[in-house]
Amino acid sequence: MMREGDWVMTVRRGGCLCGARAYEIEGDLDGVWICHCSLCRKVTGSIGNAILIVPKARFRWLRGEDHAVTYVLRETYSITRCQTCGTPLPAEVDDTNVYVTAGTLDTPLGKGVRTHLFCASRADWDRDEPDVRYFDARSR
Ligand SMILES: [Zn+2]
Ligand SMILES: [Zn+2]
Repeated sequence: MMREGDWVMTVRRGGCLCGARAYEIEGDLDGVWICHCSLCRKVTGSIGNAILIVPKARFRWLRGEDHAVTYVLRETYSITRCQTCGTPLPAEVDDTNVYVTAGTLDTPLGKGVRTHLFCASRADWDRDEPDVRYFDARSR
């Protein structure tokens, strides 16, 4: 927690699997955006990219900002990964926001998924079967 005037601002942290890259986000966020487009499905090898949209002024690298490799897939689409462990981490920055991969957050967000994008491109398996099984074990 961090004091700013009379307000106590929440600080959340995240980083890559090997720990070489780490970041900090100040203040509360709206929730998670999931993009199901075919590019996001391919680069994650999963249902798509889960993203937090963070105003630039509230995002800061703690370490490893340059310990990254960027793949430019299309003129308007690139991904950045940790050079050591390959974790995808914030890369895309526009004038106002940083796009943070939600799975790299270590601190609870306190919010759920807010928006699904490109739903028509969703993989047909991206849904629960009626007899889906859940196992409660927690990893580290
Ligand atoms: Zn790493
Ligand atoms: Zn996408």
